[in-house]
Amino acid sequence: MSGLALACHIADYNDLYSDQEKDTWVIEPRVKYLSDKTWCFWQQDANLFDSAVTHRWNRWLIKSGDNTHICRSSELDYVMVDSGRYYAIAQERLTRSTSVNLLTGTRAEALQIGQTQITVDCDDVQFKADYVYDTRPKEIPFGTLLQHFVGWEIETDQDVFDTHTVTLMDFQASNDDDIHFFYVLPFTKRHALVETTHFSKKSLEDKIYLEELTHYITTELGIGEWRILREERGIIPMPKKPPNPEQRAHYNVIPFGLYADTAKPSTGYCYPHAQHQAKQHASRLFAGKAHQVTAVRKPVAQWLDHVFISFLEHQPAHAASTFIRLFKRVPEPVLIRFLGDNAKITDYLKVIAAMPKFLFICEAFRCAKNL
Ligand SMILES: Cc1cc2nc3c(=O)[nH]c(=O)nc-3n(C[C@H](O)[C@H](O)[C@H](O)COP(=O)(O)OP(=O)(O)OC[C@H]3O[C@@H](n4cnc5c(N)ncnc54)[C@H](O)[C@@H]3O)c2cc1C
Repeated sequence: MSGLALACHIADYNDLYSDQEKDTWVIEPRVKYLSDKTWCFWQQDANLFDSAVTHRWNRWLIKSGDNTHICRSSELDYVMVDSGRYYAIAQERLTRSTSVNLLTGTRAEALQIGQTQITVDCDDVQFKADYVYDTRPKEIPFGTLLQHFVGWEIETDQDVFDTHTVTLMDFQASNDDDIHFFYVLPFTKRHALVETTHFSKKSLEDKIYLEELTHYITTELGIGEWRILREERGIIPMPKKPPNPEQRAHYNVIPFGLYADTAKPSTGYCYPHAQHQAKQHASRLFAGKAHQVTAVRKPVAQWLDHVFISFLEHQPAHAASTFIRLFKRVPEPVLIRFLGDNAKITDYLKVIAAMPKFLFICEAFRCAKNL
């Protein structure tokens, strides 16, 4: 996702500034792009892939037992991007480019740093590059909080889903070191994505996710018969201290994407941040400042993410009530700006004011002590 976004921006710049054309290669082990996931986010800016948005909602609910809160936004929608359409748009753009190439069916392996260039060893070919943007998956350090989930896109024979409202978090009882909730994206009254999601340090056996989904669909949603159209799954790291791009191994190898400083660690949302950063990387590249990559988030946002993740790790029993409190007390536009990393100082103050004071002060002390 992030690599293709960057490649498309480079292709656009190459067309605009042909005298500075950057010969670019995207190395991708997949032979074929399939629709393997959906990306949702609160849309604040237009981007290259807006025509891949298939659904949008302006109401979302958060729930724990009988305590339900519905948020409404008249200005900003929660939108869904279909990955199949996204990949098709990117491939079509790169096919039209004579300078940006997509090499599928090939893995990038070792990177050798030379005096002036970086050699990228691939399966049976080598590339010499001035800059490498590395979006490959990385090993997640042991002890990192994980957001792990499995979702089923299902179809029913009866009208069951409220197409106006996304279920962002429907919290379930869980054990001591786990936060568990369901996420429902209703596409039509008979068609939805239902996802079981956990925040914990260990992923689960496959059969547990499947039992949870079956139980929720039959018991909570009251659906007798359904067909699974597609399954998606993921493990997203939620590090208290995300990788600092200023401490990268080489200044011309730039980490980007889910395992870099791109996803917002306290939420796992990566798509809107990747779109924004892809534009920034391309603009820096053409300004001759590709290596000038610094930490993406302001220190205040980094600190709040750190304290919030520490809170999720140490106080999982209070997570549901805290999320509900946050969504109830913070006005929608403020929370959307906060989650999208566009918060103003007054937004941070509103978010801090909405948190349970005693718990968060204790957590902030714990974080300060462990720095
Ligand atoms: C099922 C799922 C749903 C998600 N939903 C959302 C959402 O709703 N909203 C949101 O903001 N985020 C979401 N995310 C998180 C995040 O946006 C996605 O993971 C996103 O795809 C990350 O983009 P990326 O470019 O870092 O990684 P990817 O899109 O996974 O791209 C990494 C690429 O690296 C390639 N690769 C692997 N090994 C090599 C190698 N050796 N050499 C070269 N290439 C290699 C892979 O084939 C892949 O194409 C979701 C994640 C998952 C898994």
